Amino acid sequence: MPPPINTAELLREHGLRPSKKLGQNFLQDPAILDKIVQIAEVTENDTVLEIGPGLGSLTRHLALSAKEVVAIEIDKKIIPALRASLDGYSNVKVIEGDVLETVPAEVINASEYLVVANIPYYITSAILRHLLENNPRPSRMVLTIQKEVAQRICANKGKMSLLALSVHVYGHPEIIANIPAGAFYPLPKVDSAVIRIALHDEPRIPVYLLDAFFRLAKAGFGQKRKTLRNSLSAGLHIPTSQSEELLINSGIEPRRRAETLTLEEWVLLTENWSKS
Ligand code: SAM
Repeated sequence: MPPPINTAELLREHGLRPSKKLGQNFLQDPAILDKIVQIAEVTENDTVLEIGPGLGSLTRHLALSAKEVVAIEIDKKIIPALRASLDGYSNVKVIEGDVLETVPAEVINASEYLVVANIPYYITSAILRHLLENNPRPSRMVLTIQKEVAQRICANKGKMSLLALSVHVYGHPEIIANIPAGAFYPLPKVDSAVIRIALHDEPRIPVYLLDAFFRLAKAGFGQKRKTLRNSLSAGLHIPTSQSEELLINSGIEPRRRAETLTLEEWVLLTENWSKS
């Protein structure tokens, strides 16, 4: 294990304060950092993409197990402290920038990679979309996120959301561990969990239907308490007679709500809609 970082002291030394706006709650418990690397099953053959290395506590743990770590950090003010903390870790490449504006393939020097990160919670959905929709996709992701969001992503039958559905198209998400607030500095106001997403080789929706699928799903979830008959009609700007026919032809009762559909039913619905 690398020597632990004293977050408060390092911040003080560099005249820094944690930025709430950038979601800066730093992980500093060495046992938890080690556990995250184990959950990700990082080996010396792996290239790891880390989002938001902050002061480098997770980065250092990753660097000891991985072949290379590419770490993207947006906060220019924290970079000198990060570089100091990573002094001597020669297999880490720090990229100064916004992960949402960075194409992984352009910064990673490998055909396969993993993502392991304690991400800024305020852009969880955007990060997931960005990583899942860019090619090549990572082979797996191990992310520390807000527990409530982790539960939403991992929800299954009957409790699907647009976010869960978007993740399930690309991979299988699981909650692996809960992280106590005391593992962070400063203490977060929300509970946290580690999720692992094992990516499918191919998305569960044929690639040529992905756009149509997301249009349908956005329409379906757009009007929360409405039946699919009505939400699809409103979201797709089609008469209810047409949305009803589409649903019936796909074997779906038109009064059901979006959250009750399985991924397989969405696939069928998309195929039928694209034919119509
Ligand atoms: N990995 C560190 C740790 O566990 O101690 C820090 C995690 S902290 C929750 C999130 C980090 O993401 C912060 O360092 C923050 O500055 C950075 N960050 C926030 N928005 C970002 C963005 N759009 N692109 C890259 N990094 C970002």
